[in-house]
Amino acid sequence: MNVDVVVIGGGQAGLAAGYYLRRAGLDFVVLDDQTHPGGSWQNYWPSLHLFSPAEHSRLPGWPMPPWHSGFPPASHVVDYLRAYEKKYELPVHRPVRVQSVHRVEGGYRVDTDGAVYVAAAVINATGTWSRPFWPSYPGMREFRGKQLHATDYDTPDMFAGKRVGIVGGGNSAAQILAEVSTVAETLWFTSREPRFLPDDVDGRVLFDVASDRARALASGDADTGGVAGLGDIVMVPPVKEARNRGVLHARPMFTAITADGVTDGDTIDKLDAIVWCTGFRPALRHLQPLHLHAEGSVIALDDNHVRDEPNLLFLGYGDWTGPASATLIGVGRTARAAVNTLVRRGKVDQS
Ligand SMILES: Cc1cc2nc3c(=O)[nH]c(=O)nc-3n(C[C@H](O)[C@H](O)[C@H](O)COP(=O)(O)OP(=O)(O)OC[C@H]3O[C@@H](n4cnc5c(N)ncnc54)[C@H](O)[C@@H]3O)c2cc1C
Repeated sequence: MNVDVVVIGGGQAGLAAGYYLRRAGLDFVVLDDQTHPGGSWQNYWPSLHLFSPAEHSRLPGWPMPPWHSGFPPASHVVDYLRAYEKKYELPVHRPVRVQSVHRVEGGYRVDTDGAVYVAAAVINATGTWSRPFWPSYPGMREFRGKQLHATDYDTPDMFAGKRVGIVGGGNSAAQILAEVSTVAETLWFTSREPRFLPDDVDGRVLFDVASDRARALASGDADTGGVAGLGDIVMVPPVKEARNRGVLHARPMFTAITADGVTDGDTIDKLDAIVWCTGFRPALRHLQPLHLHAEGSVIALDDNHVRDEPNLLFLGYGDWTGPASATLIGVGRTARAAVNTLVRRGKVDQS
């Protein structure tokens, strides 16, 4: 199948790209390996809620319908993304898994577990959820208890009455700890002191800080960073409640894992389970045949396209691909910029 643009990934980033591609009148498809709409939101643990109100979590064009009280649950985002896809008649093909991307005359060939697609441009929006990051610690394989990543976490029931280590200093760790600590004894390990946002501040502030940064960068001002980063912990109700119960105390990271616990070299903390809330990496395996130029471990980008490869764009991976681009409200800005770049250069066929 020949198209102007193939978008890989049908989560919020892929849909935002689809919105602008549709508006630009380009011929495109979105390829997504899930059986249903919703991207990674459909795989989050059931209790996960947004850390900002619905009206502050919108994709371009159509706002997320309000949620009746508090911040919406992940299932509300899934419903929104499903309806969004339908409203803008976005051509999402699923389940289609992209296996590899290759350069061909005039563009790229995208090999999948079904059809083969050829396109002048590729927008890569595969997210990070499918590539959980597990750090490596001595003794990890000897541990006799259960180890799981946040991506495998569902409900706290399996930990009832146990002693559980939660590793990581971000929002996933704080939220999972808040929940697990209602049924189990928890020990929280972080490599630096966790940074909590003030109680009266929610995810909106993080987005505002990121937007200020985007504006500063766009106008050529020096990047001044900000007081809050997207790694700062938002005091959502369960996390506040955990603090009130006195369980929100982090301890320094252990140095090794033993058969029945973790150690800092002096003492051993016995554990039945370890939950690794240690983040994710971009899901880019299908791009390996392209041997993209990397600086250190990161693929070199100019704006949001791969350096020396202006028709291969990356979307939605966080600051690497634009301030707040991993959020619902922030991804539209980078999606618009990406599609504008393609249209302005006239590289894709618009006949
Ligand atoms: C605990 C937690 C709380 C969060 N809270 C918020 C919040 O309150 N507000 C907010 O805005 N954001 C929040 N986020 C961030 C947000 O959920 C993610 O950044 C966002 O879902 C990423 O969207 P995406 O479209 O880039 O990726 P995804 O949603 O992961 O979509 C990518 C899609 O591509 C598919 N895919 C991957 N590889 C392939 C392939 N080779 N071929 C075909 N398809 C493929 C994936 O299966 C998936 O369907 C939170 C994240 C977490 C973990």
